Amino acid sequence: MRQTLEHQHRLFDVDEALQDITSRRPAMTDIATSFALLQKARLDAQAALPDSPLLDGDPDLAGLPHGRPLLADFMESLATPAKTTAEHFRAAAKVILPQAAQAFPKLAPDLARLALLLDSPGKAPDEGVQLAASLLAAIAPAKARNTAESAGATMEELATRLGISSPALHMTATEGLLALLTHASARLLPQVDNDIWRRGYCPVCGGGPDSGILKEAKEDSEFLIAKAGQLWLHCSQCAALWRFPRMRCAACDCEDPQRLELLLAEGDPRSDAERVQLCHDCKSYLPTLNMVDRTDRINLEMLPISMLHLDILAQKRGFAPMAPSPWNTLT
Ligand SMILES: [Zn+2]
Ligand SMILES: [Zn+2]
Repeated sequence: MRQTLEHQHRLFDVDEALQDITSRRPAMTDIATSFALLQKARLDAQAALPDSPLLDGDPDLAGLPHGRPLLADFMESLATPAKTTAEHFRAAAKVILPQAAQAFPKLAPDLARLALLLDSPGKAPDEGVQLAASLLAAIAPAKARNTAESAGATMEELATRLGISSPALHMTATEGLLALLTHASARLLPQVDNDIWRRGYCPVCGGGPDSGILKEAKEDSEFLIAKAGQLWLHCSQCAALWRFPRMRCAACDCEDPQRLELLLAEGDPRSDAERVQLCHDCKSYLPTLNMVDRTDRINLEMLPISMLHLDILAQKRGFAPMAPSPWNTLT
């Protein structure tokens, strides 16, 4: 998919996508600029990360038919992260923190202090690694935290102990983890058989979709070329793309056409391509871009922020995003 788009010269880099968004929607300039800075930081962090895999040994492909994502073991290990995981996180945070400070100037002093603590110059090198492990443990999935022998400090406890605001800690922990997942996903995703996986969550990391993209179906393996296009979901955590049935809710698997609704921004010149699918069963929504018969250029990672106006419309009607994030949690 990603390759196909590249071959069609249809991918923007982050800066081009940002320019495209701000020229079309000036009101989104601030939020899109901050989002773009973090996307670029994530790309830089991936380039700085060592090539060694997050998991020892080969990924467990046998779990895929049963709905078990390739990084399920890794996600479960986050409550008590391995030392190499904490070291990778530290390497990613080193790259991300200065750029995150640019994106969020109010958090800059806190982020600078955290960068120093993670680097722990002149101290035992393990202190930075231990802090990295504590940050990861604090955002580990609740299930992993509950089953771990010692739950580790919560983000609020860490904030009090370190004297650093919990939003700064939370952003660092999240962005560092997303960089690790995205880095691992680039290597793991090609091992996923797209004909096996039809779930509403990511086959690599288990994350929910932050957007969908409809594209022409012209793969050799297809007997029929579906004119309406194939739906691919974009992972909110690791940027993987995977196929999913078009007329099904990714959150609850509802397939009742009476319960699914397509919402568009009326009067918007792009409303023929940018849609949001609402599910009346579970009250969740997914912004979707239709690329069938279109020549637009896009950046997949900037897609969620380019359709933020649709989040606003959907949330006004009482629907919730499938992958809530600080960006789409609107008040
Ligand atoms: Zn993922
Ligand atoms: Zn649903």
